[in-house]
Amino acid sequence: MCKHDETSAVKLWSYQHKKLQYKNIDKCMAHLISDFNEYGLITTGSCCGHGKDNDAYIGFASMEDAKQAEKMMSRWEFYLNEAGNPCIRKRR
Ligand SMILES: [Zn+2]
Ligand SMILES: [Zn+2]
Repeated sequence: MCKHDETSAVKLWSYQHKKLQYKNIDKCMAHLISDFNEYGLITTGSCCGHGKDNDAYIGFASMEDAKQAEKMMSRWEFYLNEAGNPCIRKRR
């Protein structure tokens, strides 16, 4: 797990701006997030939890993307966050 200031710039599709943009991703998740993006699953945000598994999450642009990601990640589960947005998190 990385400290809060350890991030990698990853070129991702911005759901908000409808174009590719560099985003700062927690370093230990950079490859994963990049892979999801190349696979066509659009992420809206993520955090590795920085040692706290319960804080780790990945947000997705659509329900379908989050459900697909859940299938690919055996140790993660689908959930809706407080704002009702589709995400996955580490199983509890
Ligand atoms: Zn980390
Ligand atoms: Zn983080």
